[in-house]
Amino acid sequence: MKGLMQDWPLLVHTIIDYAAINHGEREVVSRIGDGPLHRTTYAEISVRAKKLSSALKRRGYGYGDLIATMAWNSAHHLESWYAIAGLGAVCHTLNPRLFEEQLIYIINHAEDKLIFVDADFVPLIEKLKDKLPAVQGIVVFGAEADLPASKIDGLIASETLINEGDENFAWPQFDENTACGLCYTSGTTGNPKGVLYTHRSNVLHAMSVNGADIIGLKSTDVVLPVVPMFHANAWSLTYSAPMAGSKLVMPGSKLDGQSVYELLEGEAVSFSAAVPTIWLMLLQYLEESGKTLPILERVAIGGSACPLAVMQAFKEKYDVEVLHAWGMTEMSPIGTIAMPTAAMEGLSDEELWGLKQKQGRAFYSVQLKIVDDDNNEQPRDGVAYGALKVRGTAVAKSYLKGEGRQAFDADGWFDTGDVGTIDAFGYFQITDRSKDVIKSGGEWISSIDLENVAVGHPDVAEAAVIGIAHPKWDERPLLVIVANAGASPSKDDILKFLEGKIAKWWMPDDVVFIDEIPHTATGKINKLGLREKFSDYVLPTATAAE
Ligand code: AMP
Repeated sequence: MKGLMQDWPLLVHTIIDYAAINHGEREVVSRIGDGPLHRTTYAEISVRAKKLSSALKRRGYGYGDLIATMAWNSAHHLESWYAIAGLGAVCHTLNPRLFEEQLIYIINHAEDKLIFVDADFVPLIEKLKDKLPAVQGIVVFGAEADLPASKIDGLIASETLINEGDENFAWPQFDENTACGLCYTSGTTGNPKGVLYTHRSNVLHAMSVNGADIIGLKSTDVVLPVVPMFHANAWSLTYSAPMAGSKLVMPGSKLDGQSVYELLEGEAVSFSAAVPTIWLMLLQYLEESGKTLPILERVAIGGSACPLAVMQAFKEKYDVEVLHAWGMTEMSPIGTIAMPTAAMEGLSDEELWGLKQKQGRAFYSVQLKIVDDDNNEQPRDGVAYGALKVRGTAVAKSYLKGEGRQAFDADGWFDTGDVGTIDAFGYFQITDRSKDVIKSGGEWISSIDLENVAVGHPDVAEAAVIGIAHPKWDERPLLVIVANAGASPSKDDILKFLEGKIAKWWMPDDVVFIDEIPHTATGKINKLGLREKFSDYVLPTATAAE
């Protein structure tokens, strides 16, 4: 028997409609270039998104069209997201930090027809434009009078589109499983692959993460997504904040410690989210300036492993609660969060910090399991490790154009490419990306664990560990270090510091110091680049073993 409840499709633009009606006066504040902060409201954004959507329709764009954006976080970028999705078109967020060849590849692969860009990206688009046959036009966020001089013919100002739009435009009706967003994975191996979100998956994800034990935004919150909108939906905040009625503060391009601090303080931000690198810069700025964080209540940290020292500095020096989250583009993106449960009551501070360092537990709508090489589920005992597989309402079931099929099994589980353990609290702990784990004498060494310990050394700014071929052990760890400015630790200093903090056989076979560790476009350590850099490297222990 079928139930008798209304069939109310979960469409992302219903979020901005809701915010406009119920939290219409709530502000969205944006830093745009060097100008004064731009201020608008959810009510205005909703009207402008509809006008933009209707203008796009009049110009021939509609259901199923791919429309890209290359922009920093701003109210204008947000308007374009809702305008594109509300039309039934697909908003493809481009990460401007990708290499030019990768951008050309993904824009052509997605068959983007139009690209919305911030004015500062026009020179980059100029370089690519001739190699993008499907792209019919470039829209620059801002007014006609502010259009930059460009070699590209017929740049369109977004304000021109909004001015020609119809504010009484009604969103077209369509199915909730319609695609609304496209984001390519960072692609550390092979070509990047497209993750195609649906309206339904994004709405469900925003509702899930707004649970009190997850991110749990409230209408009284002021939310600063430092994480860019081109990094996996800004971790859903551009949906979950208007859904809650929280004020949004959009940081634009300036993500250094001082600029982030100015917004945190100036706009009374209560919640913010970013990758560890951003928080390291903020903490360094606070340390140098002697400033504090009296208003900020909570920060989410994720995207790559976060040093314990960063989490503890937030809590112990500035009384800010840390939400350690793990996720992936393919999971919309949040998959787990390290928030305490009733079962953890009575644990010591040390035990709780130990758990906080883990990647956390699944929440309703996400299922996790770890499996061995034969796909047998492993026990949740915190010891057995395996490949992490996931399923859920906001997990990809395929990549765009059916690529990367091997990552999806017949039962609908997606192989994350991460390996780790799950403990009795349901906490997943990442050991490594499966391709980064170091295989030494048939056992695994976690590069992430080694890096986390090494960055605890006071002279170390950043640490990365890669496996180097070894005649006896197959692979052994090489620790690559960037020292703090003015510091020059020795190999012995570092190895001594590791002693007692890691298993003896995990001790790196060598330590090298370099000026800069390469990063991917989403700010992760680029292990592939590092492995290439050290491809001819011979460990001192390797020559001794031969
Ligand atoms: P992306 O799709 O670019 O967001 O990358 C997802 C990958 O980032 C995951 O598969 C993990 O390898 C890594 N990652 C994300 N969050 C964390 C975290 N909290 N700790 C360690 N690694 C993480």
